[in-house]
Amino acid sequence: MRPFTYTNANNKEQALKGANQNSHYLGGGTNLIDLMKEDVERPDQLININNLDYKKITVNKNGGLTLGAMLSNSETANHLDIRKNYPLLSMAMLSAATAQIRNMATNGGNLLQRTRCPYFFEISMPCNKREPGSGCGAKNGMNALHAIFGYSESCIAVNPSDMCVALAAIGASVEVEKTDGSSRIIEFSDFHRLPGDHPENDTNLMQGELITAIHLSKPIFSDHYYYLKIRERSSYAFALLSVAAGLQLNGGIITEVGLAMGSVAHKPWKLNKAEAYLSGKKPSQANFEEAAELEMIDAKPFKDNKYKVEMGKKAIVRALTQAYERKA
Ligand SMILES: Cc1cc2nc3c(=O)[nH]c(=O)nc-3n(C[C@H](O)[C@H](O)[C@H](O)COP(=O)(O)OP(=O)(O)OC[C@H]3O[C@@H](n4cnc5c(N)ncnc54)[C@H](O)[C@@H]3O)c2cc1C
Ligand code: SF4
Repeated sequence: MRPFTYTNANNKEQALKGANQNSHYLGGGTNLIDLMKEDVERPDQLININNLDYKKITVNKNGGLTLGAMLSNSETANHLDIRKNYPLLSMAMLSAATAQIRNMATNGGNLLQRTRCPYFFEISMPCNKREPGSGCGAKNGMNALHAIFGYSESCIAVNPSDMCVALAAIGASVEVEKTDGSSRIIEFSDFHRLPGDHPENDTNLMQGELITAIHLSKPIFSDHYYYLKIRERSSYAFALLSVAAGLQLNGGIITEVGLAMGSVAHKPWKLNKAEAYLSGKKPSQANFEEAAELEMIDAKPFKDNKYKVEMGKKAIVRALTQAYERKA
């Protein structure tokens, strides 16, 4: 590990003042510290933000909830209001990592966790995300865990978060404090980015900006929801592929649908075509299969991850079926 300075911020002003071009905020440290030990992340300054007062869940003006950025993933997922009103989010969050890691991990940190591409972690290998211009080891290397949608010549990595897949399905926005002291709101769909020519940037957050909250709109999909996570073992493993599915039904017709897929792109992948197809239709096996076909037709796999196309179709159908049958 390289030398760095460490400061404790007791309020947002101290945190923002301490930020520089090569500083990092320290949440639970479950991702950042691992990456520092591997020499992948090399901050010269860590600013501990665990004392900041962003640890509550409050009701917001849209009738939804606001999640403090410093609240742990466990506290969020197990909160009664989240379990009752946003059970899809709770289910996705509880599928992640282990209880110990969820106790440490913060909501802000979860949004910014980095890819698990093995070439990104191994500093002797080329990786445009870690070292821009060095190449992409995965493109012609081992790419079983990589993207099938939205990748570029520069990078084919996927976003590994479970929480973010659920947020993409239910809709959310992220509140951020800028270094000049003002704040801004980023729609969740614009928070993460596709790699393009700059895979070193996972999100549209600017250096030094501090995430303070995640806003959820009105309670949604509280009856018909399912988070399907397919992984190599049933605990302590990232998704090979996941689907967050939520349905609102009225008189046997789908009036609202939220669908997103994880571990298939550089950002949580919203299934817009499938959503549009299902809206106003009956929740039938045939319609779920057609929606899955429509979505997966755009997939462009690599040599080792062709399995994700068929798995993706089946996962969409299964997640929708489980969501529908949950209370029907
Ligand atoms: C063994 C293991 C298994 C895991 N399995 C899964 C899994 O199955 N599914 C899953 O989704 N995740 C999994 N994770 C990842 C885990 O969810 C993340 O490491 C965690 O959510 C990161 O949160 P943190 O608070 O620890 O972030 P940190 O490590 O503290 O920070 C991560 C990044 O976010 C920045 N940051 C943190 N908070 C803020 C803020 N408020 N504003 C601006 N920047 C901020 C930091 O500077 C850093 O760049 C796993 C992790 C481990 C170690
Ligand atoms: S896929 Fe992205 S993260 Fe992985 S080696 Fe290529 S550039 Fe690096």
